[in-house]
Amino acid sequence: MTVRLRQQVLDAVVAHARRGHPREVVGLLARSAPHSGDIVDSHPLLNEERQYPHLGFLVSPGALAAAEQAVHDAGLHVAGVYHSHPGRSARWSPADRDSARVGDVHLIVSLRGAVTEIRAWRRVVDRTMEELPVVLVA
Ligand SMILES: [Zn+2]
Repeated sequence: MTVRLRQQVLDAVVAHARRGHPREVVGLLARSAPHSGDIVDSHPLLNEERQYPHLGFLVSPGALAAAEQAVHDAGLHVAGVYHSHPGRSARWSPADRDSARVGDVHLIVSLRGAVTEIRAWRRVVDRTMEELPVVLVA
């Protein structure tokens, strides 16, 4: 599956990541149809990780459920989550893999270098993550 990411969604995700720096930020991604790679919207969530917020994220089940409801209310479908890596590359960590739902898109934004790095992953059943190509669309 190719992730087709709208430019305005990317802009919102990167702006969120910069606002939250040096903490990780997290949010929900919405797609136009089930199993589609078309990412058309994003919903910021609060990172409730208190001890190491620069190294990980935690979202309360209630906040996640409310954001998922907002996606459904907009006539869209939950695609997965995005989060930022303030000081690391956009490669997934073991904690990222363990928190990812099988089949969901997992977009990671790295602010480590001079150029923002964006990579997309998808958890597969055997506890690994496969990389998904990302294409920006208008
Ligand atoms: Zn991560």
